Amino acid sequence: MMTREEATDLFHSDDLIGIGMAADAIRRKLHPHGIVSYIIDRNINYTNFCTEYCSFCAFYRPMGHAEGYILPHETIFAKIEETLDLGGTGVLMQGGLHPDLKIEWYEDLLSSIQKRFGSRIHLHCFSAPEITNIAELSGLTLRDTIARLRDSGLDSIPGGGAEILDDEVRYRISRLKCSTAEWIDVHRTAHSLGMRTTATMMFGCGERIEHRVKHFEIVRRIQEDTGGFTAFIPWFFQRENTSLGRFVKEEATAFEYLQTLAISRIYLDNIDNIQASWVTPGLKTCQLGLRFGGNDVGSIMIEENVVSAAGAHHSATEEELRRIIRDAGFVPKQRDTLYRTYFLY
Ligand code: SF4
Repeated sequence: MMTREEATDLFHSDDLIGIGMAADAIRRKLHPHGIVSYIIDRNINYTNFCTEYCSFCAFYRPMGHAEGYILPHETIFAKIEETLDLGGTGVLMQGGLHPDLKIEWYEDLLSSIQKRFGSRIHLHCFSAPEITNIAELSGLTLRDTIARLRDSGLDSIPGGGAEILDDEVRYRISRLKCSTAEWIDVHRTAHSLGMRTTATMMFGCGERIEHRVKHFEIVRRIQEDTGGFTAFIPWFFQRENTSLGRFVKEEATAFEYLQTLAISRIYLDNIDNIQASWVTPGLKTCQLGLRFGGNDVGSIMIEENVVSAAGAHHSATEEELRRIIRDAGFVPKQRDTLYRTYFLY
């Protein structure tokens, strides 16, 4: 098992190929059949109203803003219907932290989707800051909040809102949003209720290497105790249209992305899946990521609003993703939200 010091040393090393080979060896051990997975799903951002003002976010609108919205149920149903028609299996539903939407609103939304679509669609929804917000607004414990959402149809929880799990960094970039302890609490509680979640990391937002290593360590510890994470998804801050972009002038490079991806694969050898992202690094760097520890390329994403609002302009079709996977020497397989690849081709 890699120590924090070893991980820090790797971050300071310029031996990118050596780090990649070590990560690739772990990927091969965990996924010996050369399969690289992807999912067809859709992001649904049910509201963009938000009270948190995170400096890296170009998606939110303050309360009362003319461009703010809450999607009506019918619109959400139509988006799910379209997802199913396109061979999709799940939705990733997330939104801003709306100060008036209490648990009943979310229960009503989930159960109405459940009633209409049943198990045809996997509901991967509400990251830790949203769940903390719902609990606070509704005067409930996190446990009761998550249990009630689960009982209304929530299947799993995305790792969003982790950014960098260090309060010094969080205080700078998302002062009002949930703390490190709260993010941990949501995921540990969800795991204890039998739900799976993912862990994410948004790096390149002005943090130091020690913060990244600390983030890995927090995620590894949770996984040791609960085994509840399906995947780790590192991605880098997209600066273009954000206020943080005025201070963080330089986005992470491909070198830094591949290095961070590979070190995460080595450090988090107790998590089955590491996702090589294409949304911010682009398809070609994502493809290289498959030799730097990644065994999954994420989603073809029928719709994505949050990162594109911040200036990410990459897009991909299913066939493009399958081609980059094949060309890198792997077998592409569609998976579901829980990383099960039972689709036949
Ligand atoms: S990142 Fe999330 S919590 Fe922060 S401002 Fe954007 S929508 Fe709100």
